[in-house]
Amino acid sequence: MTPPTQPRGARELHRAVIDCERCPRLRAHCLETARVKRAAFRDEEYWGKPVPTWGRIDAPLHIVGLAPAAHGANRTGRMFTGDRSGDFLFAALHRAGFANSPISRDKRDGTRLLDCALTAVAHCAPPGNKLLPEEIANCRDWLQIEWDLRRRTRVVLALGTLAFTETVKQYRRRGWLADDERPRFSHGLNWMCRASAPVLMASYHPSQQNTFTGRLTPAMLDSVFRRARRVIDGG
Ligand code: SF4
Repeated sequence: MTPPTQPRGARELHRAVIDCERCPRLRAHCLETARVKRAAFRDEEYWGKPVPTWGRIDAPLHIVGLAPAAHGANRTGRMFTGDRSGDFLFAALHRAGFANSPISRDKRDGTRLLDCALTAVAHCAPPGNKLLPEEIANCRDWLQIEWDLRRRTRVVLALGTLAFTETVKQYRRRGWLADDERPRFSHGLNWMCRASAPVLMASYHPSQQNTFTGRLTPAMLDSVFRRARRVIDGG
């Protein structure tokens, strides 16, 4: 697929992502989910469009997740907002000083990210939380463009293996990894790259599958954010 035209800045990128129609299967799924709704949200108007990155383009911490949840970000229009994964993540972001509130409910809740931006491998919710390879490739162009605009990132935190794989691809493309460097996903990874490159970190994704089973605990995520904070503060 032809790559999208390079937006001139963060605002233009934000708009272009919202208008994106490159993945027909995902667009159809998001719209259908927005039409049918979950009973608990039947009185709400779902967003149903691609969910853009949340946070400033100059944020030092850039967090990469998987994709919006069908009844979470696809409903609220804001990354990690309105579902259990977001609840878990925001409690930790708040404890670490990366958000002004532990709650991310909807766009009117007054929650702000501090020194942090949230994005995902795909900006549209996939059926069954499974993305097809061509959909990952389509949305990779947006991540690439976004990173071209990001000049002050100090830490990139990938949530889960797919986000990690995509992040490593971006690092390679930018020459931030030597040919013989092969970072592998593991929770708590803290990969120091070449001098000017952001530190590459990894965590289990805060999905219910991980948090309900104790695979990812609040203490484990706190430890990751403490390290990110130390890097950003120059410690
Ligand atoms: S997943 Fe990404 S590339 Fe695909 S339609 Fe949504 S915004 Fe566009």
